[in-house]
Amino acid sequence: MTIERLIKKFAENHHGADTDILQKAYDFAVAAHEGQLRKTGEPYINHPLHTAYLLTEIKADLSTVAAGLLHDVPEDTDRTLEEVEREFGPEIGNLVKGITKLGKIKYRGIERYRENLKKMFLAMTNDLRVIFIKFCDRLNNLRTIESLPEEKQKRIARETLEIYVPIAGLLGISRLKWQMEDICFKILYPDEFHDLEYKYEVEKKVERNQFFQRVKNDLTPKLKETGIDYEIEMRFKHLYSIYKKMQEKNRKFDEIYDVFALRIIVPTVNDCYKVLGIIHTLWKPNSSRFKDYIAVPKPNGYKSLHTTIYGPEEKATEFQIRTKEMHEENVYGLAAHWYYKHDEDKFGYTSPKWVKEIIEVQKEVLDTDELVKKIKLDVFQDRIFVFSPKGDVFELPEKSTPIDFAYAVHSNIGNKAASVLINNKLGKLDQELKNGDMVKIITEKNREYPNQDWLKFVKTRRAKDRIKQYAKKSSLTRIKRFIPGLKGK
Ligand code: MN
Repeated sequence: MTIERLIKKFAENHHGADTDILQKAYDFAVAAHEGQLRKTGEPYINHPLHTAYLLTEIKADLSTVAAGLLHDVPEDTDRTLEEVEREFGPEIGNLVKGITKLGKIKYRGIERYRENLKKMFLAMTNDLRVIFIKFCDRLNNLRTIESLPEEKQKRIARETLEIYVPIAGLLGISRLKWQMEDICFKILYPDEFHDLEYKYEVEKKVERNQFFQRVKNDLTPKLKETGIDYEIEMRFKHLYSIYKKMQEKNRKFDEIYDVFALRIIVPTVNDCYKVLGIIHTLWKPNSSRFKDYIAVPKPNGYKSLHTTIYGPEEKATEFQIRTKEMHEENVYGLAAHWYYKHDEDKFGYTSPKWVKEIIEVQKEVLDTDELVKKIKLDVFQDRIFVFSPKGDVFELPEKSTPIDFAYAVHSNIGNKAASVLINNKLGKLDQELKNGDMVKIITEKNREYPNQDWLKFVKTRRAKDRIKQYAKKSSLTRIKRFIPGLKGK
């Protein structure tokens, strides 16, 4: 990696930007870290340079990339924060200050999980860009982790999976999320990782390519007829997500693998639905797997159409259909907006509700201690983040139960809920969920109505409304049965 390459990459996403500041930040960092080596034996400057490069890959703005180059200067060299501020002005100065304050979050087991999350959230309220720098810093550290003792490697990987990955998920930055996950997977379970890597990258590769070609051959003429400008790509599953699925469902690789995944990218929302129609006329869809995340986006802002069809040879094939803009948002999260949405709202219009709420709290309170107290009360004490087996994040009020979670996922899952696995252990439908729980609802296919007793313990409005709605329906059906005139519909 060189500064020239970094500047070139930056200019690709920011035409005509004045990049002198990047050269200046680089020269400053080189001088400050002069003579320092990383544990790998390479010059220290390689680390901030790579961190800054990762930031340009997620399309960060000029100040953020410059701050990435300078992020370890106050902490690890003789140069002070004041010098950085004097040289580079308040914006870059504040970013470097934020990252220095965030310091080195230490992993001290799950009981400190909330505390660490709080620290990260507080940094975000100052400037979300600090978190992006921290993520890229961590990702580069993970990539060069092999020179550390094994115990330390595992500690860092566990901490990343428990703190950094969920936050990247909440912010919708899937690119950073899966990169971190796959490295941590390799560190924590090297045998399983290499085994899967071989099966997926080597054994199944030819089969995957041939199948992709067949689907494309069937689909291309139909798409061409519409005149829609489209891109079709094979989607790669990330190894950690395959592994998680195997664990959760207790299945073998081949049983999980049988789903082929493709993505179609088109210009407009209308085109998305048109393409969906074409796919559904070509192949038979599995109606239970259809998801319209355009009409109803996920809590982190994710938008796309998902459908699974029985393709050539009756093979289950999953399509994601979305616009270019949605795709960028899904890959880069908020970062997709940050460089052209500055005025609209501090972080662009797609910031998730919970980020906005933290910012609201911060606006009201200026004193830092007060702020921590208030955030504790307003944001953390009454709100938990719960994960689905797929890793989707659901934001629920504290003391929510698995039934609340089930209705947050889908009414049908709520209505048919029969039992629950919490962190892979059998739990009770009325027990309180905790922050960070992974919840899997087991449904009963033939069940028609939700249990009215659930109303005694559910916390969310959504769950209450749905259960009551069915109460009305079911009593109406019962009444109709006894009043001959009302019989029928
Ligand atoms: Mn660093």
